[in-house]
Amino acid sequence: MSADLKINIVFLGAPGAGKGTQAANVAQELDLVHIATGDLFRQAQSQDTELARKAKYYMEKGQLVPDEITIKMVLERIGESGCSNGVIFDGFPRNLNQAEALDNALADQGKTVNKVVYIKVAEQELLKRLTGRWICRKCQAPYHEVNSPPKVEGICEKCGGELYQRADDKEETIKERLQVYFNETAALIDYYSREGKLLEIDGEGKVAEVSERITASLKEEFVR
Ligand code: ADP
Ligand code: ZN
Repeated sequence: MSADLKINIVFLGAPGAGKGTQAANVAQELDLVHIATGDLFRQAQSQDTELARKAKYYMEKGQLVPDEITIKMVLERIGESGCSNGVIFDGFPRNLNQAEALDNALADQGKTVNKVVYIKVAEQELLKRLTGRWICRKCQAPYHEVNSPPKVEGICEKCGGELYQRADDKEETIKERLQVYFNETAALIDYYSREGKLLEIDGEGKVAEVSERITASLKEEFVR
């Protein structure tokens, strides 16, 4: 696919749908900046700031970090260099208020959310994926005990980093995160669908198969 597309894409889907993995792949392929709010909050934990403390408090409960904190962080990030060529948003927006804030911020720069990749996975499958998940401390690559174990236990295949289990991947917290998704984030499916921006992708099957579906669908939209 041509790498000089100036497009802003939102990746939408429940926790466990595979947003992070797929967003990283597409960002690389299209040479877009990948902004993952969950990763930004986790990276902030290496410093003892007010943002880090507040984010940790909500993340551990599986709830959304308050909009005022999240929106400010994202808007600052998209003001940084590199983002003018286009961005993939992963984990943002997560409610209507955030979606409107993003629309307004992009409109101020004469831009818009061009497409929304909605990765759809059945709830039962989401639960299976989220329990047993391991993440690389260095590069954030996700693995799964059963579905996609690393070649060497505890070690990232991509960068050699150490794998760990996220504090919010405990069963109670996973249930809360899914609840928050269905209560707040799922409304965005309608929001973007009404604007004709939604690309619905079947998120079940192998990672490479899902990647293939996303790439094919974006090609159809942007390459003529
Ligand atoms: P997942 O999609 O698997 O839940 P993320 O890494 O995207 O994982 O998010 C982890 C946590 O970070 C969320 O449960 C939430 O507490 C916080 N978070 C991430 N993105 C947002 C957002 N846009 N608004 C509020 N909180 C967020
Ligand atoms: Zn790694």
